[in-house]
Amino acid sequence: MPYDFDLFVIGGGSGGTRCARIAASYGARVGIAEERFWGGTCVNVGCVPKKLMVQAAEYASWAEDARGFGWDIARGGHDWAGFIASKDHEITRLQAIYKSMLQKAGAREFEAHVRFIDPHTLDVGGQRVTAERIVIATGSTPNKADIPGADLAGITDDLFYLPRRPDRIVIIGGGYSAVEFASIFRGLGSEVHLVYRQPLPLRGFDGDLREALAEAMAAEGIHLHHGLVPTHIMAEGPTGDERRVHLSDTTDILADFVVLTTGRVPNVTGLDLEASGVALNAGGAVQVDRGSRTNVPHIYAIGDVTDRLNLTPWATAEGHALADTLFGNNPREVSPENVPTAVFSVPPLATVGLSEEDAAQLGPVDIYVTRFTPMRHTLTGRKSRRALMKLVVDQRSQRVLGAHMLGEDAAEIMQGLGIAVRMGATKQDFDRTIGIHPTAAEEFVTMRTRTRVAGVAEAAE
Ligand code: FAD
Repeated sequence: MPYDFDLFVIGGGSGGTRCARIAASYGARVGIAEERFWGGTCVNVGCVPKKLMVQAAEYASWAEDARGFGWDIARGGHDWAGFIASKDHEITRLQAIYKSMLQKAGAREFEAHVRFIDPHTLDVGGQRVTAERIVIATGSTPNKADIPGADLAGITDDLFYLPRRPDRIVIIGGGYSAVEFASIFRGLGSEVHLVYRQPLPLRGFDGDLREALAEAMAAEGIHLHHGLVPTHIMAEGPTGDERRVHLSDTTDILADFVVLTTGRVPNVTGLDLEASGVALNAGGAVQVDRGSRTNVPHIYAIGDVTDRLNLTPWATAEGHALADTLFGNNPREVSPENVPTAVFSVPPLATVGLSEEDAAQLGPVDIYVTRFTPMRHTLTGRKSRRALMKLVVDQRSQRVLGAHMLGEDAAEIMQGLGIAVRMGATKQDFDRTIGIHPTAAEEFVTMRTRTRVAGVAEAAE
């Protein structure tokens, strides 16, 4: 039976647009539908506007720190509305680029919601469309914690469109978005309260990094409320615009805005997946193998909807590999190992490979750690910007299993280290690499003295 399309992609975000564009460039007849915003989460309410906000926040400390270098720059006020307008202008430009790239590649775009009618038939905004193969790339969506008064709190999407900057903000959650927005609003001058359940933020990251980040955030004046959860949120004030957050230790915080960052869930609502026969895993994500294949042979899923590595470069890599496999005569899979990642807190942190805690489960590891004040801050005196660098090295093979950094430019530095770690570089490879002086990055190739041993040999040492 002839189908309307060789491939139909549901979702015009990071993964979906890449997959559709590459497949169309191979000559496939491709349709793609987006119901909300071209470019998806990353372009509209994720990586891009978030990074612009981090950059907006950085200027405040730079203006203050310039004094250490002889400048008499006074830190003035910040024009929130002006900044949001510039940011929105840039987002609109990027949306147009995403659309035009699809058009140039020859994909047919639909601005519509999609749901399954049967495994090969879709309802695309009321139109019946058939496709030989279908890709689900519908991303994830914020999941508000189930606490009384949760409707009085916002989600991260809201932070990009607030009419004014809140003077006092409570951020609930300890994940990467929570610490990033804590840094952003603190940098812009707000009183910031970060409330999280664990003893330290960023569960799953290396323990030394987590500790160093908590220290830096406290030194920046962020109020850290660890080991706590909100019990209820109430409206207060003459106009009901203020928010009081009650915490599990019976204390409370008064704020102008509360944001719940406590998790995202795979976005499968409204897809009528039952009609497709596609199976979900226990966490509600579309279940796929390493080739992005679902249990239905002609239906695939990529990106956040599969809830594995919820990062833009992962979604685009998967989308590209799938298009290459299906239409480019180049079958391939992307490897989830040693994917470098960053958290754009202030200071930022970045990491590739295993944390000390995870590596130590596998066997004995040599740990190299250094903490220092970067050159710039020897003159500014800003205590919160001390850097931490760390290597986790397999004791037997001397392979570098993990590299971790907290400090300015961490994300930029880690991208290159990601190549070395993925290629299987050893500690000796790092040692014989000549440093670039004077930089912070050179510390990664000059850490000569082992700090400690971890893992099963720990006791034997
Ligand atoms: P998305 O980009 O979310 O795209 C899915 C699209 O599908 C959406 O546009 C949606 O409207 C559409 N859609 C859903 N259902 C339907 C339907 N039924 N019909 C039609 N269209 C539909 N990642 C990084 O790598 N670096 C970062 O710094 C970073 N920062 C982030 C900050 C925040 C605040 C957030 C929320 C995320 C951040 N991410 C970051 C994660 C990144 O945005 C996601 O991993 C990435 O966008 C996933 O791409 P995707 O294609 O799977 O989904």
